[in-house]
Amino acid sequence: MISDDIYASCGDGWKDIILSTHEKLLFLDPNYEISQIKEKFGGLRYYFTTTAEYPSPLFEIMQDIVRLAEYKSSYTCELCGAAGYDMLVETRVSDYFYYTYCKKCSDNFLSNRKLFKKGDSNE
Ligand SMILES: [Zn+2]
Repeated sequence: MISDDIYASCGDGWKDIILSTHEKLLFLDPNYEISQIKEKFGGLRYYFTTTAEYPSPLFEIMQDIVRLAEYKSSYTCELCGAAGYDMLVETRVSDYFYYTYCKKCSDNFLSNRKLFKKGDSNE
């Protein structure tokens, strides 16, 4: 849950990106609606419908805003929102699971996965 009227199936770390994207799209087209917001392959996916004509400059601007949001998610920790090179935020893969976490969240995530696996093999 991102806000009262926005649901997204991704971590809260991307909340600011989603909210500002929503605000910009709403400004351009008050009739625009969110279809789905989710994480896929470690990146944000933001799907929407609009009454803006296709093709049109307005439609392209809206697409560009979404592409920028999706790009920003590639260097913003999905869990805590830390962003940038200094926080070592990057998209990684572990056991075919893609995720974009900062170094700290990634270390936590991986050690929890190890505990989980150890539990499995002790049966
Ligand atoms: Zn983090």
